[in-house]
Amino acid sequence: MNSARGSDPDSIFAAATALIAAAQSLRALGLGVGAAGNLSRRIARNGRAGFLITPSGTGYAALTPEDIPWLDMSGRHEGRRPPSSEWQMHRDIYASRPEAGAVLHAHSPFAVSLACLRRDIPPFHYMIARFGGDSVRVADYALFGTPELARSALAALAGRSACLLANHGMLLYADTLAEAMNQGEELEALCAHYCRALQVGAPVLLAPEEMATARERFKTYQREAHVSTKKTRHGSMKPARLKTTAAAKQEETRQQADACPN
Ligand code: 13P
Ligand code: ZN
Repeated sequence: MNSARGSDPDSIFAAATALIAAAQSLRALGLGVGAAGNLSRRIARNGRAGFLITPSGTGYAALTPEDIPWLDMSGRHEGRRPPSSEWQMHRDIYASRPEAGAVLHAHSPFAVSLACLRRDIPPFHYMIARFGGDSVRVADYALFGTPELARSALAALAGRSACLLANHGMLLYADTLAEAMNQGEELEALCAHYCRALQVGAPVLLAPEEMATARERFKTYQREAHVSTKKTRHGSMKPARLKTTAAAKQEETRQQADACPN
């Protein structure tokens, strides 16, 4: 993703529209609480690397594409609304992880619960491997919207694509917006499962070799193949989200022009 190609206004408009739709679906997915959390996606503008991010301190219901600020990698923003207070956390992920196409930060209930216990999620379930390591760490506490929080989040993300933020919430990145939303749901579900398992006893943890095998398996696992199927007019089963996810990915990849400046 190191092309110097810029994105035309239509692409920015389409990307902002997609970002709003994703942000509006956070509540239904159990990831949105009030105006908390934020969502961004990488996209270049006029040949400059940067990203679109949800505006600060606002609900998503009435947003229009003109409300979505675009930031360059130095943090200068364009648009009529101020960017999310967590723009540095999002920017630092894009700057240090060339594979990141979208970033999600949410105050979802079970992620917040574990974050408040400052409890890393250990390998109690093989799906932890989905996020790149043997655990999902909790980043050291820092005030929201500060470079200190961005720094502690990046440290907790070492070798991983997700972490919890102490006394705050969850943070993750993925290659596309659609995938970031999927992974947000998955991480919140894992947090819920872990909380429930802890209520009954001490979950049996998977061994490092078992987690290593699960990580290997994820490299080739066709996520879309089993996600959902829908009956066609002719009665055959068609993988409904396969198309959606693949199309979304293709579109987002097309729009993500410049990657990190490094
Ligand atoms: P913003 O409304 O500024 O995005 O802040 C919400 C939040 O979750 C801060 O951590
Ligand atoms: Zn937050």
